[in-house]
Amino acid sequence: MGSFRRTSFGLKAAVRPEIEKVFASRLVDHIREHDFALDLGALRLRLPRSFGLCHGVERAIQLAHETRLRFPEARLFLTDEIVHNPAVNRRLQALGYRYLGGRYADGTIIADLGPDDVVVLPAFGVETTLLEQLRGRGVQLVDTTCGEVMAVWKRVREYARDGCTTVIHGAPGHQETRATLSRADHEDPFLPQPLDARGAWLVVRGIDDAKALARYVVGRDGPEALRARFDGCLSPGFDPDFDLERIGIANQTTMLARETLQVQEILRRAYVARYGEREAAARVRLADTVCSATQDRQDALRELLDEPLDLLLVVGGYNSANTTHLAELARTKGIAAFHIEGVECLRDRRTLHGWDAAARREQPTLGWWPAHTPALVGVAAGASTPDARIGQVLLRLAELAGVAAPALAVEPAAALH
Ligand code: SF4
Repeated sequence: MGSFRRTSFGLKAAVRPEIEKVFASRLVDHIREHDFALDLGALRLRLPRSFGLCHGVERAIQLAHETRLRFPEARLFLTDEIVHNPAVNRRLQALGYRYLGGRYADGTIIADLGPDDVVVLPAFGVETTLLEQLRGRGVQLVDTTCGEVMAVWKRVREYARDGCTTVIHGAPGHQETRATLSRADHEDPFLPQPLDARGAWLVVRGIDDAKALARYVVGRDGPEALRARFDGCLSPGFDPDFDLERIGIANQTTMLARETLQVQEILRRAYVARYGEREAAARVRLADTVCSATQDRQDALRELLDEPLDLLLVVGGYNSANTTHLAELARTKGIAAFHIEGVECLRDRRTLHGWDAAARREQPTLGWWPAHTPALVGVAAGASTPDARIGQVLLRLAELAGVAAPALAVEPAAALH
């Protein structure tokens, strides 16, 4: 059987200079040190007090670099994207990592792997079935799963043990949600606590799903309507009459905190309506599992949105849930907000390319540049966006505004793409 490791190889100091060279930004550091603001005449830049790489993503990047150094001759693989940021994944490809799944997959399959191969697991974890397959090949596993994700795993296993069905507020296809749900109904050989009982689960994507589930609980909808609505979002063999008697609510760590609270309240009220306050308290368990980094970034953005911004850019991978939610949060405040992956999206003052959440693809927007001068522009970033990517965007904004960038802004990471 291969090895399994979750901790540093003790090479942190050795990889730190390389990580900083590629992912840090002197310009972003400068703005952080100057109250998150930079005034350049025709362009006034504002950053939220919390943005960019979280501790979980930093740890994943560091472990991936340490693994490269520790196994210089080995074939290195990732099961899928290590975090949801294209620049980070391309950087790991440049270090020699190959991908077994997802958009960077090169066709290698698990059956091709053997004991000399090293497989790194991503920050959001992997499903237990995949873990078993990898273990079966005897590969050496390096696990970068974030501790905040593992706290949710612990929670859903407690729900299973106590006979509660896990209701998770999240995206059914998201790797983190799939990994979490697999801990409710499958054993994880590397978790210290055994799974005492297999739990049922259901995924609530948002408020409308929560209301649909509430209609079933209070008897307004029948099981067929529920099954149709939650097709693909129910555990195998889900029996609404039995499995919804007691529930435990959790959420993907990167959801909008406010929406998660609304989902909890809608469901709690439905159980109160059906069973009364006292019995509902025994049948519904609540846990807010939005991670601290996601919460901090949402709170900081809310504070920034109190300023009269002409424009907000949110920088991050299009498949990054926490980045998408930051852009969503800004739009609810009526701000012109665009979710971009990086500097390449800012074509010129006429055209910007950004994520269209409704169409689920990148789309051009014309006339995005603010009409008046000086322009007050906010730049936020999701938890998987390196400072170097943010710095590149800031420099491009200065260029488009026709103002001189600060002399310190010779970005050592300009090659990160
Ligand atoms: S966003 Fe939260 S859960 Fe995800 S890696 Fe960062 S700290 Fe961990």
